[in-house]
Amino acid sequence: MLASIKVVNEKCIGCGICWSVCPKAVLAGELRGVARVINGNACHACFSCQNNCPTNAIYVSPTPNWPH
Ligand code: SF4
Ligand code: SF4
Repeated sequence: MLASIKVVNEKCIGCGICWSVCPKAVLAGELRGVARVINGNACHACFSCQNNCPTNAIYVSPTPNWPH
């Protein structure tokens, strides 16, 4: 796991962008629901979810394993 993913439920509008853009199928959810982390170990810290979220509801926090 290269990063931990935090979703701020109160800010998430369930647009589906994050789980659509994630190349590692880390995220899932239902439209107009809330994004969930379903496979955190697969995250490779590409930041696509964070960079594409329209409401800044999802944050990528690199772990010590992240290659700097
Ligand atoms: S940082 Fe990249 S791999 Fe990790 S959850 Fe976000 S989109 Fe997926
Ligand atoms: S991109 Fe942001 S607002 Fe849209 S589902 Fe993901 S966390 Fe929620």
